[in-house]
Formats: sequence, C-alpha cells, structure tokens
Amino acid sequence: MSDTIPQHILIIGAGEFGLATALSFLSKPTYNSSSITILDGSATLPNPSGSSVDANRIVRADYAYKHYARLALEAQELWRDQSPEGWGGEGRYHEPGFVLTADADKDEYLKSSLESVRSLVQEDNKSWLDPDKVYKLNSRDEIGKASGYQDVSGDHGYANFNSGWANAEKCVAYALKRIIKEGGDRVTIRSGTKVERLLFSGNKCSGAELRDGEQMKADLTILAAGAWSPSLVDLEGRCLATGQTLAFIDITDEEQASMRDRPTVMNMSNGMFIIPPRDNLLKIARHGYGYRNLVQIPKRNLQPGLANGEIKPKRYEYVDVSVPRVGVEIPQEAQEALRDALRELVPHMADRPFVRTRICWYCDTPSGDFLITYHPQYKSLFLATGGSGHGFKFFPVIGDRIVDAIENKLDAKLAHEWRWRCDAELQKLYQPEGFTACEDGSRAGRKGMLLDDEMAREESKSAGGMHLQS
Ligand SMILES: Cc1cc2nc3c(=O)[nH]c(=O)nc-3n(C[C@H](O)[C@H](O)[C@H](O)COP(=O)(O)OP(=O)(O)OC[C@H]3O[C@@H](n4cnc5c(N)ncnc54)[C@H](O)[C@@H]3O)c2cc1C
Repeated sequence: MSDTIPQHILIIGAGEFGLATALSFLSKPTYNSSSITILDGSATLPNPSGSSVDANRIVRADYAYKHYARLALEAQELWRDQSPEGWGGEGRYHEPGFVLTADADKDEYLKSSLESVRSLVQEDNKSWLDPDKVYKLNSRDEIGKASGYQDVSGDHGYANFNSGWANAEKCVAYALKRIIKEGGDRVTIRSGTKVERLLFSGNKCSGAELRDGEQMKADLTILAAGAWSPSLVDLEGRCLATGQTLAFIDITDEEQASMRDRPTVMNMSNGMFIIPPRDNLLKIARHGYGYRNLVQIPKRNLQPGLANGEIKPKRYEYVDVSVPRVGVEIPQEAQEALRDALRELVPHMADRPFVRTRICWYCDTPSGDFLITYHPQYKSLFLATGGSGHGFKFFPVIGDRIVDAIENKLDAKLAHEWRWRCDAELQKLYQPEGFTACEDGSRAGRKGMLLDDEMAREESKSAGGMHLQS
C-alpha cells in the first residue's frame, strides 16, 4: 500500500474473507475517514450459494501444518467467547470434538496432524487446551467408542475433544450485523450487485464495473469473491473452483438429542464426514478433489489494456476457468458415495431420502494455501481468496491478517504461504495435465472429475433405464 490511506475501499464479495476484512478496517482508527463499499452478486445476504454459508463448518487446529494450527487456536480463543456479542455466542459455536480416522495405508496427514496438534497443545499455555483430550485411537472399537457412531471405517485415528464446529450461516449474519452497527454511514453493503469486470487505468485497478454498466471507483479494490475470483481477473491457474458434495436427511427429535453432542467424524481415506446435526437435519459431506466446471471467459474481461483498447487482441482469445455452478443437484456418483457413508455410520438412517443436496464450491489453490496478497501486476488490486476448503474457522482472525498484508505488515511466514507463486513454482505443484486438483494432503476420492461428465453419465444412465423399461 502506498503511504496514503485509501479513502474509498471496494470489497467484492460478502463472504467470510470480504466481511472479515471490513470488520478489521472498522476496528482500526487509521481508516476512520475511509468509506467502505461491499458488493455481492447474491440477491440475499447471507448468500445461500456462497461457500461461507451452510449448516456448519468444522473448527479445528488439527492441521499437519503448524502455522495453520496456531492460527486456528488463536481463532478458537475467540470462537469460545459465548457472550451474545462474542463470535461463539447465540449458538454460533459448539465444541463437541473431532475424530479423524484413516486406513492404514493412507495415514500420512493424520499422523502429522496428531503430532502437530499434540506439540501445540503442550507448548501453548491456553488454559482451556487440555492435552488429555487429544488421544490416539488404535482400533475400530476405540474409534466407535470415541465417536459414538456404530461402525466408522478406518483402521486407526485420533480424537481431539478441544475442537468444535460453527454455525456458518449464523456467523455470516453476525458479521453483517456488526458491520452495519460499527460502520454506520461509512459502510455501504449492496446485495444483488454483480461485478462484471474490474476497471483499470493503465496498470492500476481503479474499481469495478457492475452488470448494468455502473462504475464504482476505488483507491483500493479487494477481490474476495471466493470460488468466483478467477472469473474477474486472470489468476493464471492459481485458483480453481472445485465442487464438493453434501446432502441432508431429516432426523427425529430423539435422534437430534442423541447425536447433538457427538464429535464431528471425518474419514481421511475417503473424505466422508458428519458434523453433529442441527435443527433435526443431518448433513453428510465429502471433502475431496471435487468437480471442475470449465467455462471459457473472454481474455479481454480478465486483463486490463485489452478491455481499454490499449492492446488489440489479434483474435478473440478465451481463458479456460473453472467457476461455480450453483442450484444443481449432486451427480449420481456422489449420491451413491454419500449413501454408502450413511450406511456405514448410521445404518438405520441410510435409506431416508435426501431432503436437500448441494454442490458447494471451494476456491482451491494447488497447495491449499490461501492467496492473500497484492496482484503483482495491477496496483491497488488486493487478492483475498483461495480458502481451499478450510478457511472458515479463521473468520474471527483472518480480517486482521488480510489488513496486515494490505499494510505490508503480515507475519513473514504467513506472507510466504499466501504469496503469489511464480510460474516456475506453480509448475512444480501442478499435475502433469495442469492444475486439476488441490494437493494439500487432506483430499480423498477420485481426481480430475468434470461436472459435465458426471452429469452426462447420469443422463445416459437414466436414458438407458428408460430404454430397458420400454
Ligand atoms: C462444502 C464446504 C465445506 C467446508 N468446510 C469447511 C470446514 O469444515 N471448516 C473450514 O474452516 N472451512 C470450510 N470450508 C471453507 C470455507 O467455507 C471457505 O474457505 C470460506 O467460506 C471462503 O469464504 P470466501 O469469502 O472466500 O467465499 P464466499 O463465502 O463464497 O464469498 C464470496 C462472495 O463473493 C460474491 N461474488 C462472487 N463473484 C462476484 C461478482 N462478480 N460480483 C459481486 N459479488 C461476487 C459471491 O456472491 C459470494 O457471496 C468449506 C467450504 C465448502 C464449500
């Protein structure tokens, strides 16, 4: 950031990253005279299709990487504030624990995570962190006892009863409410306002143009559009939207009461997990490599100069980008996989209809690290994205880290992890066929699935079925 304080700040995206950034600006006297505008394409906020909105999100310091584990503990300290004004108040945070399991031959992440969480619990002097609440599970029997579920797959695992989960939708609503209260007339939040493209003046980003042609000028533009981020600027393969599947079934009052205080259970070998139910709805989900939804975006929409007519494209060029596709049912292969997981965890519920399914979109980076940095080429454009399926737990602390990065004061280790990786470095992280999946060590399941292919498979299956019947 230049020495002058930005007077007009534009934040694109009212999800966790955008809202946390706004909250941090509001807490700092430096920005007392700055106006902040938050734009979101969703007609309603919290955005039901955004990745920050769902029944629940796991809050855990169970990471193989210590810098994330440490930051998660810092966030957890704030999640544990159960006062009505605190992050964890009014039912926003619960702490029934986390049980991770794995098959014997795919246990690397689990082993490192246990090691890292154990050493942090030992070295950290937080009074609520109890080392006795972290222990190894050596058999299916022990996994069953710790989790409360009948037959969780996995040969071994560990439990961390210091971990918990957050009611994601409530948290976004809480952040919005605080921004409106703390920001007063300095802050404008506009829903139903889709940014069509970024505006540039030379190599400086000067704001954004909306779908209806309105131009919003800004001294600092923060791109926090989650999995949609690569559709507004060419991130050249640094972020990729990957569709992850989840489904809900109805449960009775008695079942809700008996499962409410069980830990979250995740099988690291197949990615399946269950978070304790809420409002008589049980969610089953898969944390995997996900689907890509490839579309072609005109290059001139993603690069300055081309749009301004300063550079004339020789021909109409396109960039292939994976972007979210919302409002569609999950493909058959996912329905079957989620049902198999239910059959294993809660067999008596396995045949209940899915009352709702959803493809929720991660903004994945090849390494699973966030992308929180200035765009190297375009001045005044800051990138706050790349949540990679694990960003939510940092809601109470990520805003301060983003503003630290804007002020070039971010802790060097985090700045290194969240940097704009150079092309050569990216090539090393790519699969031979390009960036098709995040390789952060925690992903399971099939790699390289395309949403269109999976949907088509389903159609041809049902067409085949019809043929047989006729
Ligand atoms: C299924 C699933 C499970 C997850 N589980 C966990 C978990 O257990 N624990 C955890 O810590 N994390 C988890 N995560 C990750 C976490 O939820 C995300 O990292 C985090 O919510 C990302 O927030 P965001 O602000 O980047 O994106 P979002 O919340 O998606 O916000 C981006 C916003 O930008 C808006 N936008 C996009 N394009 C435009 C445009 N052109 N104009 C205007 N507005 C635009 C969108 O409408 C959207 O509201 C999970 C994610 C998913 C999808």
